[in-house]
Amino acid sequence: MNYADSERLAGVLEKQGYKRTDNKYQSDLVIVNTCGVRQSAENRIYGLIPKIKKEHPGAKVIVTGCLAERKDVKRRLEKYVDEWLTINAITNYQLRITNEMPKKNIGSDNSNYLNIRPLYESKFSAFVPIGNGCDNFCSYCVVPYARGREVYRPAKEILAEIKNLVKRGYKEIILIAQNVNSYKSQIPNPNDQINSKNKQIDFADLLRMVNGIKGDFWIRFLTSHPKDMSDKLIKTMAQGEKICPQVYLPVQAGDNEVLKRMNRGYTADNYIKLVKKIRHSLNDQIPACLAGRQVTNDQKNSEFKIWQPPVSITTDLIVGFPGETKQQFDNSLKLFRTIKFDMAYISEYSPRPGTAAYKLADNVARVEKRNRKDKLDKILRRTALANNKKYLGKTVRVLVEKRIKAGEWFGKTATGKDVRIKNYELKITNLIGKFVNVKI
Ligand code: SAM
Ligand code: SF4
Repeated sequence: MNYADSERLAGVLEKQGYKRTDNKYQSDLVIVNTCGVRQSAENRIYGLIPKIKKEHPGAKVIVTGCLAERKDVKRRLEKYVDEWLTINAITNYQLRITNEMPKKNIGSDNSNYLNIRPLYESKFSAFVPIGNGCDNFCSYCVVPYARGREVYRPAKEILAEIKNLVKRGYKEIILIAQNVNSYKSQIPNPNDQINSKNKQIDFADLLRMVNGIKGDFWIRFLTSHPKDMSDKLIKTMAQGEKICPQVYLPVQAGDNEVLKRMNRGYTADNYIKLVKKIRHSLNDQIPACLAGRQVTNDQKNSEFKIWQPPVSITTDLIVGFPGETKQQFDNSLKLFRTIKFDMAYISEYSPRPGTAAYKLADNVARVEKRNRKDKLDKILRRTALANNKKYLGKTVRVLVEKRIKAGEWFGKTATGKDVRIKNYELKITNLIGKFVNVKI
């Protein structure tokens, strides 16, 4: 999300005539877009910002993002920072940064920063924010305080941005929000008969509309909250030929008592049943040609038969939440063994000022947190390897992301698996941003 926000910010600055530089220690203007989800992210700016001012005392430093409103952070960095701005105030940057510059209009709708035209980093893959903020208030999480309540972008705007990207040749559209699957909007076209009762559309409807945009591209989305993963959404995924068979479904803990104290709104059993349902619908029930698996002419003509990989499941989990006992942690181990994740981001609990859990004693020792993380990592390595081995000898569609060296490329499958491609037709000079069929 911060990455996408930065692209929008870069779009605003470019419109005002700023030129981009890769050297943050020599820039006249540095905007640090901060993350405050964990202490480790916060710590990074305590080294970075003083260093920027030391190397170039004349630089103007602006801090935005999660930490821009934290009083303690402001006090600590007061003498190095010229201005603190929330991310929603990005549209006012032009007035604040450049009093000396002529005022220009920077977008059609200045009240909504998500509608700012971004300066996309990639030429083939784009993050498209569909909303901002969160209403869930998980007890450990700073996001509802840092980003505010949920606001969703009108579907009309989202579809217009994607159509434009696809027209420009983009091959991967990544829809992002704190919880994509609680998305709501008005029907973009009143003649559309999606839900005539209340004229509202949900995330499944939006996905179906994006899938309906003409062109050869993949659709990904993240992240999905387990409590909002509806049957309708699963069915839409199974039917949408451009929708990648990959679900990023943070579980956070495998123990019901811990989940309750985290305020997650589901049990471990609910989660296990949900994953079973997703796997059944996306792997067993649908014709092989569907779900992120469009068969295009180049695939039809390919000498290999293109294999359709099973849906991949990625998660987030926190170890050492206040009061998490060994027995409760064992339930997270059990859940990892049961689900057999393809990928997981495991974090050690980090107390965040202002959150409900901040009042609880952070009583799981650091070494114990590390130990628990290592145990989960071990299971993850085993299950991910077993899942990856199913690809051996199969030919899959890969979107190439970069060149490693002559004849060697790196890309990803629709399921988000990293693929290193060797000796791929050396005569082709640039595969970046192209779909290729690769035998694993
Ligand atoms: N909205 C998503 C969800 O509900 O799962 C997650 C968004 S959160 C910004 C990203 C991840 O950071 C979380 O899934 C969680 O695992 C981790 N995280 C958030 N707060 C944390 C904390 N206080 N300590 C450790 N990890 C944390
Ligand atoms: Fe919202 Fe909870 Fe996700 Fe934080 S972890 S962004 S509070 S759903």
